[in-house]
Amino acid sequence: MATATEFPTQMYIEGQWRDADDSRTLGVINPADESTLAEVAYGGRAEVDRAIGAAARAFPGWRAASVYDRARVLKKAADLIRDRAERIARTLTQEQGKPLPEAKAEVLHAADTFEWFAEEGKRAYGRTIPPSNVAKRHYVIKHPVGVVGTITPWNFPAALPSRKIAPALAVGCTVVSKPAEQTPLTLIHLFGCLADAGLPPGAANLVIAPARTVADAFFEHPAVRKVSFTGSTAVGKELIRRSADGVKRLSLELGGHAPLIVFPDADVAQVAQAAVIGKFRNNGQVCIAPSRFYVHERVAKDFTEAAVELTRKLRLGDGLVEGVQVGPMFEARALEKTASLIDDARARGAKVLTGGGRSTRFEKGYFFEPTVIREVDGRMRIMTEEPFAPVMPLLDFSKLDDVIAAANDTPYGLAAYVFTNDLTVATRMAEGLEAGIIGLNDPVPATPQCPFGGMKESGLGRELGIEGLDAYLETKYVSVGLRG
Ligand code: ADP
Repeated sequence: MATATEFPTQMYIEGQWRDADDSRTLGVINPADESTLAEVAYGGRAEVDRAIGAAARAFPGWRAASVYDRARVLKKAADLIRDRAERIARTLTQEQGKPLPEAKAEVLHAADTFEWFAEEGKRAYGRTIPPSNVAKRHYVIKHPVGVVGTITPWNFPAALPSRKIAPALAVGCTVVSKPAEQTPLTLIHLFGCLADAGLPPGAANLVIAPARTVADAFFEHPAVRKVSFTGSTAVGKELIRRSADGVKRLSLELGGHAPLIVFPDADVAQVAQAAVIGKFRNNGQVCIAPSRFYVHERVAKDFTEAAVELTRKLRLGDGLVEGVQVGPMFEARALEKTASLIDDARARGAKVLTGGGRSTRFEKGYFFEPTVIREVDGRMRIMTEEPFAPVMPLLDFSKLDDVIAAANDTPYGLAAYVFTNDLTVATRMAEGLEAGIIGLNDPVPATPQCPFGGMKESGLGRELGIEGLDAYLETKYVSVGLRG
């Protein structure tokens, strides 16, 4: 059991660090050894309503502040996140499981996100529009949406809330944020950086409470104008239904089932390396993780051999141990789901080439052997459900049009990856694939300045990039009649 001072454990409401009213706490588990890392404050409706009230009170002042002053606070928060990156990354690894270098990269991505939106907030331009009536003038100004509620999952506990909090604050919105209950510690650290950067009380508030309680408060409280959610498609659909009564704005970044397509002209050894990195990063618990691998039949054998060999060599272990490339999965439920997806695929004829089960090398912790399977077909659950698992299903193809059709044959449309050096093939694929993010010879495309989000059932709206700023702005049209 960690000492009380090792991790910060409180909520942050109206500029104060707070326990729950009834002192209730929630245990945070380390997936590498199943120990309890910390007990965090665990609030309920009263605390969430108080946070929303604080955000509503802070909104007029924060909105009226100069965008340059808001930017200074966000930039300072980015600097503090960088200064504290080592400590925050260790916490992230301990509560979430990913290897320390991956955690560090995520924390630095969060810092970059704060810095980028600090700058981009200064460019929330309106426009003037030539009138048809010479006695009028027309212009468009941007107006912050208002109080924003954010709900984020456990797989990227630093990056995902940052994509919501930074743009919202940059344009003058105020925020109430809920982390996943399993991984609250990283966001508490980020709020420490915001507080120390001089954020005024109430501009951003952190609540830790049951998900439904938080969602109820967000949808029922009239002050909340927008909910920004990252998580499963099932919950996203529920939020769309719930948003109707208050016509709350929504940004939804939901599930994915990304195809990775290898054409025969690509360098097979290099692509196998990229595919294994992209697949097993964070154990495949990534919404844009490649989860269906379509390999041209001319290179299928070579690709399969290379991918299996690289997968076997991946070093599994506690993410804090140097050299570990794949950490534990994030909870016992994830192990069980992965095993059941593989059992289903096996029962329908798939062959396991490496991995296939829970690792037996560890006494404690949620370790699953990185797995490659082939003889996969479209009816298997691994092909129809978002897997979120360290499993690489291999399929063959021979024609470009067929692989586009197969890749698009899913309700999801978040990311797709194509490996080829042929410009015509690359262009046809980029235009034909139904996905919001296309990695052409790039297995890790996310970056703060570029739009991130999905088509079809993978979501509504975009995060990051200028689109991710616009998501927190209303468009206000002003028409002026001049005196004659
Ligand atoms: P995942 O499978 O990645 O955990 P979820 O959609 O279940 O995806 O969870 C993502 C986030 O949404 C978490 O913060 C979780 O607490 C929250 N959440 C889960 N169920 C609901 C719900 N019914 N309403 C609002 N938020 C929810």
